[in-house]
Amino acid sequence: MSEKQIKVRFAPSPTGYLHVGGARTALFNWLYARKVGGKFVLRIEDTDQERSTEESYQAILRGMEWLGMDWGEGAILQSDRLDIYKEHADKLKETGKLYPCYCTSEEIAGRNAAAGEVDHAGYDGHCRELTADQISAFEAEGREARWRLHTPDEGTTFWYDIVMDKLEFPNEAIVDRVMIKPDGFPTYNFAVVIDDYLMGITHVLRGDDHVSNTPLHLMVYDALGWDRPKFGHMPMILGPDGKRLSKRHGATSVEEFADKGILPDAMVNYLALLGWSAGGSGDGVFMRKELISKFSLKKVNSSPAAFDYTKLEFINSQHLKRLEPADKLLLSEAVCDENGWSFSEAWQISANDRANYLNKIIKVLGGRFSDLNRLPDMLSFFFTEDFKMEQEAVAENLTTETAPLLNKLADKIEADKSDSAEEMEAAIKAVAADLDIKPGVIIHPARVALTGTTRSAGMYDVMCLVGGPRVIDRLRRASK
Ligand code: GLU
Repeated sequence: MSEKQIKVRFAPSPTGYLHVGGARTALFNWLYARKVGGKFVLRIEDTDQERSTEESYQAILRGMEWLGMDWGEGAILQSDRLDIYKEHADKLKETGKLYPCYCTSEEIAGRNAAAGEVDHAGYDGHCRELTADQISAFEAEGREARWRLHTPDEGTTFWYDIVMDKLEFPNEAIVDRVMIKPDGFPTYNFAVVIDDYLMGITHVLRGDDHVSNTPLHLMVYDALGWDRPKFGHMPMILGPDGKRLSKRHGATSVEEFADKGILPDAMVNYLALLGWSAGGSGDGVFMRKELISKFSLKKVNSSPAAFDYTKLEFINSQHLKRLEPADKLLLSEAVCDENGWSFSEAWQISANDRANYLNKIIKVLGGRFSDLNRLPDMLSFFFTEDFKMEQEAVAENLTTETAPLLNKLADKIEADKSDSAEEMEAAIKAVAADLDIKPGVIIHPARVALTGTTRSAGMYDVMCLVGGPRVIDRLRRASK
């Protein structure tokens, strides 16, 4: 017997940007589909016409594309499927499982208040048993019907949640919610069931904010006589202070992270760690392929996950370090383009164009290539004389004592026409020996003179790539 093909979906409402919580839900679905060779569907739940926007829809698509979560069947829009919801609603109307309700929200709230209920108590079943005459009377008043599900009053509704184990609700706690609005549009609670069933979704994996909707959804499956899919509710994401993650904590939209220099693979890696763990004692750094092979729904945790911005930075730095040279080159070229930095043959260095020069720089940077925000500073002094000089570094290292050392080094490099890293090293050592000082005493101020900072890649390599003539100029300038 062949197993039913596993199919999962991400079903965002286009009412805002793609935030971390939504992206994490999408990712768990995507990883699961990739892991088991199943299908992943993107469905846009836009039946709330007042709150849905085209802008949000586009932002969700951009976010998904940036994260590299490809979906199979094209983004499906619920607003294109109104006929389908109507057809199924009509069936339920015929059997009385959907009934018309003419109450206004004020009337419902008034009755709840009179009965001493809290105002969010919800609907009280007032229109459940309307007669044909009552219906005509309401219609004659010009009232419009919304259609509610006649939910069971006794017993319980339960399911075995993939993440949270058995969840059970008393049926009396589930109110007859609206399935079809007066404008004929289905509500989320109706459309979600129709779509999940008709699209063959086998596992509904979504945020735990939907746990309280699930019993109602199960009642809709039952009303239609449909088999239920499996459900798994992902734990909530908290901010560092233990409260639900929100804008107060910092960036929450996927695109904000992109702007902050986070790589898509790093974001995907970090999102995967929110509520899931591969087990073992690793540092949590995984390439996409590893995530897919290691992912398991069994290891999704039911307790809330805290978003740790520092850990994300760490994961990002590890992904940056591991990038292929060609990808590092692309990122570096983008920085150069933004700053208008080009290659000049006048520098007299052993490179023949910008890409070739950048490749040499990237090699020399090695593991320092770990923070895109610092990349402009790390590249600037290779291209321009207008690089940042850190004040503290200058004050400590470019003094009246170090000035003659730098001059001497400039003279030596000029005299020897030092060019390669080895020749630069030899020049520094020769000057140090001559003055009977340690090479470090010259290297520190030279580094500040050439790069503006006290931390840089290996000094001899940097000198070689900046090139003799520019090194000499900078040393002399700094000594003044
Ligand atoms: N459209 C719902 C939301 O954005 C998700 C529904 C679901 O996954 O079932 O919260």
